[in-house]
Amino acid sequence: MHTEIAAIKKNDFSFYDIQKIRNDFPILKTLVHDKPLVYLDNAATTQKPQYVIDKMNYYYENYNSNVHRGVHALSQKATEAFEGARIIIKNFINALGKNEIIFTRGTTESINLVASTYGRANIKEGDEIIISTMEHHSNIVPWQMLCTEKNAKLRVIPINDNGEIIFEEFEKMINEKTKFVSIVYASNTLGTINPVKEIINLAHNYNIPVLLDAAQAINHLKIDVQQLDCDFLAFSGHKLYGPTGIGILYGKVNFLEAMHPYQGGGDMISKVTFEETTYNELPHKFEAGTPDIAGAIGLGAAIEYIEKIGLENIAHHENLLLDYATKAVSDLQGLKIIGTAKDKIGVLSFHFENVHPHDVGTFLDFEGVAIRTGHHCTQPLMRRFNIPATSRASFGMYNTIEEVDVLVHGLKKILEVFG
Ligand code: PLP
Repeated sequence: MHTEIAAIKKNDFSFYDIQKIRNDFPILKTLVHDKPLVYLDNAATTQKPQYVIDKMNYYYENYNSNVHRGVHALSQKATEAFEGARIIIKNFINALGKNEIIFTRGTTESINLVASTYGRANIKEGDEIIISTMEHHSNIVPWQMLCTEKNAKLRVIPINDNGEIIFEEFEKMINEKTKFVSIVYASNTLGTINPVKEIINLAHNYNIPVLLDAAQAINHLKIDVQQLDCDFLAFSGHKLYGPTGIGILYGKVNFLEAMHPYQGGGDMISKVTFEETTYNELPHKFEAGTPDIAGAIGLGAAIEYIEKIGLENIAHHENLLLDYATKAVSDLQGLKIIGTAKDKIGVLSFHFENVHPHDVGTFLDFEGVAIRTGHHCTQPLMRRFNIPATSRASFGMYNTIEEVDVLVHGLKKILEVFG
């Protein structure tokens, strides 16, 4: 085991200038309890590079103005930057057109939008919607609410002990009553990368649309929505080194055209009288009110930054960290890794036999290490593993092998104290 760890340490990291990347993130110089911050809570939210912060500040300092409505210079510049961000995002996921990119507040709002519009119009009594055991609450509750309203049924694909979807169960579950499939691409709690292409292909054999919750996949896997052929895709800016408060719903144009607006108000209309309203064209039909302009600009900047480093390089780096950390903690007494799928993103969840996750998190905090403890908004998944919570370290593009060493050292100390 130790030779394996040493081998990873010796790995050629030359594809990646980690120190330069770290220097781009001002927060990484922070001290926590007089110790250098070791930020391993990237699945909750990622830190922001100076480039993103500067782009957003520049907007507020130099051309802050509302979009789409003004003929004056500032408004035109703001509109150009806002719509420019949409094009960056469209290219990033290879959507067919920029009218398929809807700005929302995040993954949660994107899923709620689809459940409230497509779902309300198309799901009827007795219909079935399929999700999986490892969904985040934001990909459970909106569908549950819809099912309650429509007297429809929510069906859940089971997972095995490694935290992988049991595909044969999905094959058995899908039938003519199934009207929608909504699946997480990569689990925030287990790290599992799901076989989404196979899921989409099977669902499409039955003419069933599929939504992918890509909140955790978007910063690790190259996503090409045309190649995947997903019908909807949801993600958040803040997990992609961009700001909070902004996210994306991608939808195939034929679905979006047919869907009723989500909210009414300014910008989503083309003509209003007291008798009736006609709606604006896509994507504005789904963007009522003043949008998060700085957020959209920040998200566009985050994608530019990521593309400069290369998503594949980032993924390769995070995979090395995960591999190293997995091997390093496997020796620790009483520690069980929750989520041992073959294909994983950089998420390491674990559970100590005799130490509560909250104690683990608090202890590590005093070492400067930020991890997440709790149910990670996946309570049904916790029940599947028969545990109340896990401790979760999640890796980002700026984390180092030395930081993993600090984590493991902290865990060893915990064992000494609580063991
Ligand atoms: N889906 C997954 C897999 C997530 O990890 C998260 C956030 O942790 C969400 C959905 C919700 O994202 P947000 O809170 O940004 O809307």
